[in-house]
Amino acid sequence: MQISHHKVALIDYVLSDAQGKPIDSSSEDEPLAYIHGTDSLITGLEEELEGCSAGDSIDVVVPPDKGYGQRDESLVQTVSRDQFEAGVELEVGMQFHAHDEGDGPDIVTITAIEGDQVTLDTNHPLAGLSLHFDVTVVEVRDATAEELEHGHVHGPGGHHH
Ligand code: ZN
Repeated sequence: MQISHHKVALIDYVLSDAQGKPIDSSSEDEPLAYIHGTDSLITGLEEELEGCSAGDSIDVVVPPDKGYGQRDESLVQTVSRDQFEAGVELEVGMQFHAHDEGDGPDIVTITAIEGDQVTLDTNHPLAGLSLHFDVTVVEVRDATAEELEHGHVHGPGGHHH
């Protein structure tokens, strides 16, 4: 069976940056499961996985435009430290989720702290990067009606509920 619209695919992957430094990977005991064609993965990766079968291995370099987009410097802003709850220890490199109205969670990274001024970057941490994926397809199957309704995979590599 080949990966196509609304198939469930289980993949093992290693993500590294252009210099080959590992950034992320699927867990050792469980591949990542996703429903193809539902924007679960970045575009550049889904495009390359289309038509692959179990056992196939691919090497993909995804440019920012098909990954997490280009960096937008207007998403970098400086706020005063008292915007944060008292007692919270702030450090450069800290990441947290901010909930924007309507737009889902954003990852915010603290990129500088000077005195009581804290610089926040709301760009996706992988924005502006060419992403190198080493992917092996573990399994391809049809999605169940329930999975399509929920928009996510059930069972191994997916949701357990
Ligand atoms: Zn569900």
